[in-house]
Amino acid sequence: MEKHQFKAESKRLLDMMIHSIYSNKEIFLRELISNASDATDKMYYRSLTDDKLQFDPQAYEIQIIPDETTRTLTIQDTGIGMTKAELEANLGTIAKSGSLAFKNTTEASDGYDIIGQFGVGFYSAFMVADKIRVTSRHVDSSETYVWESDGADGYTIGHGPQGEIGTTIVLHLKANTDDVNYDEYLQAQRLQAIIKKYSDFIRYPIRLQMQDGEGAAELQTVNSMVPLWRKNPKEVSNEEYTNFYQEKHYGFDKPLKHAHIQVDGNISYQAILYIPETMPFDYYSKEYEKGLELYVNGVLIKEKAEELLPDYFSFVKGMVDSQDLSLNISREILQQDRQLNLIAKNIKNKIKALLQKMLKNERELYSQFFQTFGRQLKFGLYNDFGMHRDDLQDLILFRSSASDTDVTLAEYVERMPETQTHIYYATGDSLARIEQLPQLAVAKEKGFEVLYFVEEIDEFITKVLMQYQEKSFQSIVSADFQLDEEEAQENETHKDLFAALATMLDGKVSAVRANTHLQANPVWLTAKGDISLEMEKTLNAMPDGGGVKAEKVLELNPTHPLFATLVKKFSEQPDTLAAYANVLYNQALLLEGLPIEDPIAFANDVASLIK
Ligand code: ADP
Repeated sequence: MEKHQFKAESKRLLDMMIHSIYSNKEIFLRELISNASDATDKMYYRSLTDDKLQFDPQAYEIQIIPDETTRTLTIQDTGIGMTKAELEANLGTIAKSGSLAFKNTTEASDGYDIIGQFGVGFYSAFMVADKIRVTSRHVDSSETYVWESDGADGYTIGHGPQGEIGTTIVLHLKANTDDVNYDEYLQAQRLQAIIKKYSDFIRYPIRLQMQDGEGAAELQTVNSMVPLWRKNPKEVSNEEYTNFYQEKHYGFDKPLKHAHIQVDGNISYQAILYIPETMPFDYYSKEYEKGLELYVNGVLIKEKAEELLPDYFSFVKGMVDSQDLSLNISREILQQDRQLNLIAKNIKNKIKALLQKMLKNERELYSQFFQTFGRQLKFGLYNDFGMHRDDLQDLILFRSSASDTDVTLAEYVERMPETQTHIYYATGDSLARIEQLPQLAVAKEKGFEVLYFVEEIDEFITKVLMQYQEKSFQSIVSADFQLDEEEAQENETHKDLFAALATMLDGKVSAVRANTHLQANPVWLTAKGDISLEMEKTLNAMPDGGGVKAEKVLELNPTHPLFATLVKKFSEQPDTLAAYANVLYNQALLLEGLPIEDPIAFANDVASLIK
C-alpha cells in the first residue's frame, strides 16, 4: 500500500470541501454521476471504434446503492476505468491546475465560488463523506486498483482483488451534525429526487437500489435517459435548462438566456445554446477557449469544438448533437467537414436571431448582456475589414445625448431630423468628459443627437463601416464638423491673422481658425480627415502603430480676451506673434491630453511672454 500526500493546491480545495458550509451539498451526486457517464461514453466510443472489444450495450449502467447499516453510498459504473497512474493523476491533483490561484481565498472560503466556478467534480464528495474508496479497473488492464482517502491525511493506492472493468466509488458519510443530516443521502426517495433533478437526461440507466413492496431490495431505473436536447422544448422547464448548464459546467453563473434548437432537414441536429450572465474570469485572456460540446448521435466527440462558433460569438456556451456526422470524424477532418460547416453557419444565424429577438423584446436584458459582452461584438464588427457587418451592425449599442439608455444605429437614424445628413458622434474617455465638450452644445442646439464613443474601438468601427443606411459618420470634435454663420464671419474677418499663425505653426497644424462655441476656453485642437486625435492616441499606444499623425487644426475663441491681444499684436508687432502661436498650440495639446513636443522651448516662450 503506497501512501501519498495531496499536492498543495488540491489540498486547499479539499480542505474547502471538507469544511464547506455550502448548503447545496446534494450536487456531489450530480458530479459523480456525470463522471460515471463520461467514463461510460469513453467506453462506448472505444467499443464502436475498436473491433477487438466486444461490449454489450445493455451492460452499460450506473448503479447507486445506499446502505444504512454501513452508512455508505456506492456509485458504480461500467465505464472505461482508470489505471493506477490515472487514479493518481486524476484524483490526487486537480485537473484544472491554476484555477484556484484566480480566486481569492476569503471570497471562496466556504467553497461556494469554487464549486460553482470550476465544478470541483470528484472532490465535492468530501462535502458529504469523511472517507472515500475508489476501486477501478481500466479497459486496457487486468489489474484492479484501490484508491482510498480520508481527505486530510492524503491517500493510499494499492492492488485490489480482480474485478470487472469500470469504477466503484464508496462514500462513507459524515456523522450528522446539528445543522446537516447526512443520513438523507441514504434515503432512496431523496436520492431519486436528486437524480431526477440533475441527471435525468444521462443516456445510461441510473439504477437506484430501492425497496420493493415486500421490503426486498431491487434496482430501479430512475432517469428517463432522454437527453435534454432531444426533449420537446415545450416540455422542458427553465429550471431544467439551468440545471443542465450547471451540470455541464458551462459557467459558474446562471445562464442569462438559452435557445433550444432542433433542426430537421438536409442536415439534422439539436443544440442547446446559452448566453452566460457574467463574463468568465479568463474571457479576455488567451487561455479562454471558445467552442461548443460536439456530440455525434449522442456520443461526446469533442468538448470544445471551436469550429462551431465565430470569434464574435465566443461567449456562447452549450452543445450540439448531430446524427449526420461520422463518429469516426477525427479532429483534423473536423475543420473541413462540409456538414459541420453547415451546422456552424446555421448556429451562427440562430445566435444572431436569439440576440435580435432579445434586443427587440427584452431590451433591459439585452442591455445587460451588452454591458458584459458588447465589446466582443464591436471587435467582431471591426475585424476582418467589417466583413461581418451584416451580422453585427444592428446588435451594437451606444450611449447618446438623447437619453440615458442605449441606442442602436437603427434607432438613431430613425429619429434623425430631416436637416441632419450625418450620424454624429463624440469621443472621450468618459461620458462626463464628452458632456463637457463645447461642440456638444452646438450639436444639441441644432437638434442633433450625438453618439457617445467612450471605448477606443468605437471610432475605429465607423472607419470600417463608413456608412450606416447611407449616412456617413461624422465626429463633432472634428474640424470637418460644419461651421455656422457667425464662425464663417469670424474666419473671414481674421483670415490674415489665421494664415500668419498657420505659417508659424507649419508642420504642427494644417490650419488655424475660429470656433465661436468654445465658451471659456481660449483654444482648442481638432483634427480633420480620417484620423482623429483619439485615434492618433490609440494608434501611437500600439507597438506597431507609431508615427500615425492626425491632421490637426488649431481653433481660437474670438470671444476670449486673449484673442483681442492677438489681433493687436498682429497689427502692431507681428514679429512677437510666433511666441504666442507656440504657447497657444502647446496649451491646446495639453487640453487634449497629448504630449508637448519641446517642453524647453515652451517654457522659454512662456517666460518671454510673462517678461
Ligand atoms: P472533471 O470530471 O471535471 O475532469 P473530476 O475531479 O470530477 O474532474 O475528475 C477528474 C478525472 O478523473 C476525470 O476527468 C476522469 O478522467 C477521472 N474520473 C473521475 N471519475 C471517473 C470514473 N467514474 N471513471 C473513470 N474516470 C473517472
